Amino acid sequence: MAGLVRRPGGSRGPALDSGLRRNDEEKDCRTRDDRFSQSKKLFARAQKSLVGGVNSPVRAFKAVGGTPVFMRSGKGAALIDEDGNRYIDYCLSWGPLILGHAHPAVTRAASSAVRAGASFGAPTQAETLLAEALKKALPSLELVRMTSSGTEAVMGALRAARAFTGRDRVVKFAGCYHGHADNLLVAAGSGAATLGKPDSDGVPRSWAETTMVCSYNDLESVRAAFSRWGKSIAAVIVEPAAANMGLVLPEPGFLEGLRKITRANGALLVFDEVITGFRMSYGGAQTAYKVRPDLTCLGKIIGGGFPMGAYGGKRKIMERVAPLGGAYQAGTLSGNPAAVAAGLAALKALKRENPYARMSGLASELAVGLCEAAAQSGVPVQVHQIASMFTIFFSKTPVRDWDSAAKADRQAYARFFQSMLKQGVYLPPAQFETAMLSSCHTRADIERTLRAARRAFESVKKMC
Ligand SMILES: *Cc1c(COP(=O)(O)O)cnc(C)c1O
Repeated sequence: MAGLVRRPGGSRGPALDSGLRRNDEEKDCRTRDDRFSQSKKLFARAQKSLVGGVNSPVRAFKAVGGTPVFMRSGKGAALIDEDGNRYIDYCLSWGPLILGHAHPAVTRAASSAVRAGASFGAPTQAETLLAEALKKALPSLELVRMTSSGTEAVMGALRAARAFTGRDRVVKFAGCYHGHADNLLVAAGSGAATLGKPDSDGVPRSWAETTMVCSYNDLESVRAAFSRWGKSIAAVIVEPAAANMGLVLPEPGFLEGLRKITRANGALLVFDEVITGFRMSYGGAQTAYKVRPDLTCLGKIIGGGFPMGAYGGKRKIMERVAPLGGAYQAGTLSGNPAAVAAGLAALKALKRENPYARMSGLASELAVGLCEAAAQSGVPVQVHQIASMFTIFFSKTPVRDWDSAAKADRQAYARFFQSMLKQGVYLPPAQFETAMLSSCHTRADIERTLRAARRAFESVKKMC
């Protein structure tokens, strides 16, 4: 599958009517104070009891400023906040909601599971059905273990990899996110392979040092890591299309190169498909790019909006996991009936509705339109898009790894985000999060988004 990387052309369109623009902005100023008044009140109260007022840091809007918007409900592609403002949602709970909010089949399945009992702590038939559906979609999965989050899935997969190889070190890529486990909160290190340094307070340096950091799209940095630590590297873990430094696509040969290098060195290749699984295609990035990993981590979509993760892969590796093997991994709510029912219903709906081509077509129209709109305002951007995912990098130079992504102008993104928010478009509240479409987004949504984007780029231009 060819990745799409679009850059603005040099053409400049007609300037917006400045009188009209001034009027609209005055309206913005007048209404600014009461538009989010409920959210402001709720956030002030939340901060007294919840750390930073939120349960996951990026929700606090630190990267874009202003008050986080408190949501009341969602339906399809639309989100409604506590002030009654309506948004076209491109965040979609960070990925799970590929079918949009409150999809009828998913809601029905989860509700009826809850009515039958929220949790048993004993095996249920539906877990096997979901595992079978995962195996059918991703042929690299021979045995599966379910968890309650993507973080746990990655922790489990790497423990299995270490148990299987008898080695301790793991290679990751700067800019790739694999959840908040201690030894993976390591991102730093540019260019060549570097010894991991913790990216978070409270992570022991010695734990982080088992993680070697390489550069995305740079096989030389991986070869360097293997020539230095090859015999102690258990696995290379990678987002096959990176979606946590903004969307950064693998260049041709990168994933194939990782497959070759790991195989030649007796290390495992782990694909973190927590975002890309059932999003790049029904069979994930591994099907789209035709590269087969040894282990795969899943999450987000497979829980249909409920807490869920899974990892799996080759039988002989997964047999190292308890109760078959000595690598312990467990969870009170793992394979939770509501989450499993929602996930199963979501996968069935995806199979039935097969929305992938349509979503990808709309996302591509959006990407082209965003490039044109940015060019008209003379704002330099790099718009990356594949399948239903996209990112607008406010950057003059191409983005292919963390170093180049980090050069993007975060303030420009913040300005763009705020303008879009006021106009009823909810983007991820940070430059380095990937925006997504659901199967419910329509051409009318795209057109409305592009109209808003034209104004938003104009407001970014005024910053410069
Ligand atoms: C979201 C994400 C995770 C972590 O999943 P949680 O459910 O938030 O723990 C891991 N890897 C990738 C690639 C992700 O996008």
